[in-house]
Amino acid sequence: MAFHAATATPPAATGLGDLLPSLATLLAAAVGVLLLWALGYAAACAASPFARCRRCEGVGKTIKPNGRVKRWCRHCKGTGLRLRTGRRAYNYLRRLRRQGTRPTRVRTTPPRPFGK
Ligand SMILES: [Zn+2]
Repeated sequence: MAFHAATATPPAATGLGDLLPSLATLLAAAVGVLLLWALGYAAACAASPFARCRRCEGVGKTIKPNGRVKRWCRHCKGTGLRLRTGRRAYNYLRRLRRQGTRPTRVRTTPPRPFGK
């Protein structure tokens, strides 16, 4: 006696299009990953706007083989720090907005009481 299990078998894949996720799914995943990265980078720029200088790797100077200072780093002026690119862009945009908007009015006289 033959035993037939009542299992739902998926239809056989007919082509490559059935195996790969659709283009919309891939695009949505890419946008999500990009958004997550941007949020993380913005958080990093807000938490620590400075990163190590790329030229001197945060040392701030170049050192001779005998251990003495050869020269202070010209890129970071000896601080060993650089402003992150995202923070530099944020500062630029903030400065642009401040220069492009009218200064906020400062009230010089006290407000008049009601009914007068
Ligand atoms: Zn440096």
